[in-house]
Amino acid sequence: MIKQNVNINVDAPSIWFIFSAEKLLVPIEQPGPIVEAWNKLEFAHAYKEQVVQVGEHNGQVCYLVDMGNELIEQAGLELSHLRSLLLHDEMDIFSVAARAWQVALFLRTHRFCGQCGSTMQKIDWEMAMHCHRCHHRCYPRISPCIIVAIRHEDKILLAQGKPQKERNMFSTLAGFVESGETLEDAVHREVFEEVGVAIKNIRYMSSQPWPFPHSLMVGFLADFDSGDINVDGHEIIEAHWFKYDELPNIPPKFSIAGQLIERTIEEICQD
Ligand SMILES: [Zn+2]
Repeated sequence: MIKQNVNINVDAPSIWFIFSAEKLLVPIEQPGPIVEAWNKLEFAHAYKEQVVQVGEHNGQVCYLVDMGNELIEQAGLELSHLRSLLLHDEMDIFSVAARAWQVALFLRTHRFCGQCGSTMQKIDWEMAMHCHRCHHRCYPRISPCIIVAIRHEDKILLAQGKPQKERNMFSTLAGFVESGETLEDAVHREVFEEVGVAIKNIRYMSSQPWPFPHSLMVGFLADFDSGDINVDGHEIIEAHWFKYDELPNIPPKFSIAGQLIERTIEEICQD
């Protein structure tokens, strides 16, 4: 559970997600969140009122400290992108880091009321910001985003946008859910808009929070129905049907895209 206005046990080692600008402060020796007693983190003491409890990990309490938009230099520590934590996540702690970053971003962008412009106040009993003048209340933003692996016999449809092209990678199709749309509608619409293909037999597989900046990836499997690939040339530059045992460079297994592709291969092999 996420808690504002916390009582810190100042002597017990805890796990600290300390953000400075867009980056996480990590020990140079062992990239990951700082594990230390609050008493030893003098440089952060000025931010004590803003500490947020963001969960627990292996019996240790995890806290967020946001030092704001200035880059803070500290001996023995370096600033690291959250994405780089994914590469050497020895503590298996990326999901807590993701939550911490989303909370930090929420608090940074909700200091003032979007309706009347007054200063917003923290709520003690839930993660929200409240305006006492006009009673507008805001919760951390979560943006649902569908992601889908499409199968046609022994082939998988994989595509490339600009970011994937730069990384020489092909991935599954994905896109944000629009207001008033069901997840299933979003899957049909995104696939048709991006590659011009109709699909059927949509099945939910699993989901994954993705904190860049606040997506919740909702993963589906689907089968090809009809149509020739015709990329939109905007979000998608290239897309092809790839035979399951002749795949290009694909996303790693910790990502939901990697897991969707893996599951599709398993289903092809079973049939
Ligand atoms: Zn207001």
